Amino acid sequence: MQEAIQPKYHITTVTCACGNTFESGSVKPELRVEICSNCHPFFTGKQKFVDAGGRVDKFKKKYGI
Ligand SMILES: [Zn+2]
Repeated sequence: MQEAIQPKYHITTVTCACGNTFESGSVKPELRVEICSNCHPFFTGKQKFVDAGGRVDKFKKKYGI
């Protein structure tokens, strides 16, 4: 009789403060978060890393690699 004690678990649209929405499993019908994988500092740091990669591309073009 485990079904009786399990909350309803379904796919929820999560809305972030940055405007990004994504789907996640939750017991709540809708979910609002302050931060998500799109604006989390860790991922923002990654974007800076991507910018650095662009500089590497320029370096490669300059030297014909
Ligand atoms: Zn976000």
